[in-house]
Amino acid sequence: MKIDSIFLKKKPVLSFEIFPPKRDTAIQSIDETLAILCELNPDFISVTFGAGGSVTNNLTVELAKKIKQEYHIEPLVHLTCLNHSKAEIQQILQQLQEAEIENILALRGDRNPDVEPKQDFCYASDLIQYIKEYGDFSISGACYPECHLESKNRIEDIHNLKKKVDSGANHLISQLFFDNTIFYSYMENCKIAGIEVPVEAGIMPVVNKAQIERMVSLCGASLPEKFKRIMQKYEDKKEALFDAGMVYAINQIVDLLAHDVDGIHIFTMNNPVVAKRICDGIKNLV
Ligand code: FAD
Repeated sequence: MKIDSIFLKKKPVLSFEIFPPKRDTAIQSIDETLAILCELNPDFISVTFGAGGSVTNNLTVELAKKIKQEYHIEPLVHLTCLNHSKAEIQQILQQLQEAEIENILALRGDRNPDVEPKQDFCYASDLIQYIKEYGDFSISGACYPECHLESKNRIEDIHNLKKKVDSGANHLISQLFFDNTIFYSYMENCKIAGIEVPVEAGIMPVVNKAQIERMVSLCGASLPEKFKRIMQKYEDKKEALFDAGMVYAINQIVDLLAHDVDGIHIFTMNNPVVAKRICDGIKNLV
């Protein structure tokens, strides 16, 4: 089923994000994780694609096929374009059509300092236009409550998001954030800009200290005082930090649901224990 149709039937939508195993690892290595994630009955599972600007062919499409054919959950395939030619993208779109995969998260991808971008696509909106001309897919896009790192300011960022929606994105998934008030004012700005498509809130449950540092340096998410205090208090107590991270994520989600968010997208980091803990915490709310 196409993701835009899921939103017509259900609100809030619950989705998970996973990444494929490394190229030299068997796809079956992820079965244990998938079995637990799928039992939690998400509305769809998204599969990342060459994160960090890498151009190597990975197992994204294969994993998405597995989710659809063996677990009967709708997959959403991430697809980046900056380092790909039209011919390469066309080949992937053909594979998706053959596998009857209907949902694509169209992304520009991060710049990789070691790779000269190909010239066919500059922005996610170029990829969206290309996909629309190619075939009948439901197309999602990424959005950034704290502004994309390359944008000059929030106004420019929202104008560019509007272009992305106008080019055909019918659903957005947000970058992770830890302060819900930032997300709420972002949603207001989206409305003012005429962006009407459903926006899922991206939630990253924090489970260890290294992860927090990596996240903040990669996407610039600001850390509220409350969050910093909790992390400082438990940073050297592994289990306590895990518990605190779970509670923080659940509280964030409960507050988002109380504000009628369109959907919750959990960055599971392929950790089914994390996904299960969160789903148990919100099982009567979604
Ligand atoms: P765009 O929408 O193209 O935006 C990039 C920048 O260009 C922004 O600053 C924007 O304001 C600006 N811009 C956009 N359109 C225009 C225009 N017409 N004119 C001028 N400026 C413009 N990366 C991966 O490599 N693999 C993944 O699987 C992956 N999954 C992700 C999932 C989510 C939910 C999110 C939020 C991000 C994900 N990313 C992934 C990261 C993403 O690729 C990077 O954030 C990338 O830097 C931007 O991608 P985008 O699609 O948002 O780009």
